[in-house]
Amino acid sequence: MIRKVLIANRGEIALRISCTLREMGIQTVAVFTEPDEHALHVQSAHEAREISSYLDASEIVRTAKESGADAIHPGYGFLSENAGFSEACEVSGLVFIGPRADTIRAMGDKLESKRVMQQAGIPIVPVWNGSPPRSEFPVLVKAVGGGGGKGMRLVQNVAELQDALASASREASAAFGDHHVFVEKYIRQPRHIEFQILGDAHGNAIHAFERECSIQRRHQKLIEETPSPAVTPELRIQMGSAALAAARAVKYRGAGTVEFIVDPSGKFYFLEMNTRLQVEHPITEMTTGLDLVREQVLIASGEKLNYAQSDLYQTGHALECRIYAEVPEENFRPDTGVIEVFERPSGPGIRLDTGVGRGSVVSYHFDPLLAKLIVWAPSRRAAIDRMKRALEDFVLLGVRNNIEFLRRVISTDDFGSGKLDTTFLDRHGEVFNVPNEVPVEAVLVASTVGAVYDRPDRPAGHRLPLQDVWDSGNWRNS
Ligand code: ADP
Ligand code: ADP
Ligand code: MG
Repeated sequence: MIRKVLIANRGEIALRISCTLREMGIQTVAVFTEPDEHALHVQSAHEAREISSYLDASEIVRTAKESGADAIHPGYGFLSENAGFSEACEVSGLVFIGPRADTIRAMGDKLESKRVMQQAGIPIVPVWNGSPPRSEFPVLVKAVGGGGGKGMRLVQNVAELQDALASASREASAAFGDHHVFVEKYIRQPRHIEFQILGDAHGNAIHAFERECSIQRRHQKLIEETPSPAVTPELRIQMGSAALAAARAVKYRGAGTVEFIVDPSGKFYFLEMNTRLQVEHPITEMTTGLDLVREQVLIASGEKLNYAQSDLYQTGHALECRIYAEVPEENFRPDTGVIEVFERPSGPGIRLDTGVGRGSVVSYHFDPLLAKLIVWAPSRRAAIDRMKRALEDFVLLGVRNNIEFLRRVISTDDFGSGKLDTTFLDRHGEVFNVPNEVPVEAVLVASTVGAVYDRPDRPAGHRLPLQDVWDSGNWRNS
């Protein structure tokens, strides 16, 4: 029985996990480092303990023991894919809410995971140990231990290869503590389509359908949706079977994701397996009714999956936009500051998973992901319309962010017709343009009833009193 869980994470995912734990009657322990002293995830937990780093495995295990927790949920990022952390938990008698350490280790190695999947009969992206044939260029250099889109290099010709290998290797050493790199075939204009999997400790596994994550910047996802507009029922059966074969090949226990890359002809290749909860898991929850954190806890408690593949189906369409404190027009550079105005969108079919609110400090210490806006609607068209409306209603001032940029992306004809691939943003420069010099976030309008804060793309009814904007000290940006 799991009665008390330490959440070894911060931000929106720590809050998300705590929601489900509390619904399950489980006590929650938050951890925080000094810059997060006043963070929302600290306030939302039953108790909170200060630590020196979210990456210090032994300190976190010690803190969990001291607090009387019987399990640890690692969230995503940080220690979530660290096999040593999972082992340290088990050694201390703590349940690690995630897969077995051997699975994390094997799947965390991009070459080893490809070897395992190839043996299971799953198509993989071809890799080379040395230099590939000239005809294969361009190619990608990747870090064996890479993640989060880091440590990757696109190499156009054989002359550039040695330098790319050396610099990727240095970056990989610094970022992942592993200098090994390899060369992979570069798939042109691919889609990123992944499958959610769940496996229990009794050998049962299911998949919970796909998520399309082709809208990316720096090889990192920005907008995700399910079902994918590119997946036909036949392709879903093929890719779903491959995802299940991947789960079975490693006797997967827990929630995980099998990532594929799909070329324009519809051929798909295994890319990697993520052995954790995925950032974009809510879109699967919105269309299947599953609570993936709840499933993780039940699996970690040793329970059997109490449904079969044929019991699962998707209803409607879900979209997620990742709200980052970053400036798309300035090469997506992260921004920092204090959030002065935070007006959340609401209404039917809207879910906001956020780690911040009014008064939150956004610092350079952490990943700039602020929140995830998720919408559900009966059809893809309706989901896009709903997302546009929700982005219009979302007012976040004090830290520059990508809300308006996301609105422009989903408003393009190509997004509307589902013509997506991972080079979408490279080919749609128009979404970076700010029309008519109109400020990105806000304009101040003087009217007879007094000055109000307004934005040209929002209905006039949605106005904040000037005082709120003035208080924010942010009006100069406008
Ligand atoms: P997902 O694969 O879940 O959609 P990302 O690939 O964007 O999401 O990564 C999830 C989060 O974890 C991000 O905050 C990212 O910065 C972080 N992350 C992922 N892998 C690593 C890694 N190997 N090292 C450091 N941070 C990582
Ligand atoms: P990470 O561990 O950083 O998530 P992935 O291998 O999952 O690394 O790749 C991240 C993204 O990089 C993919 O979603 C895709 O956009 C791009 N990418 C990766 N491999 C290839 C490839 N072989 N060809 C084209 N694009 C690729
Ligand atoms: Mg990946």
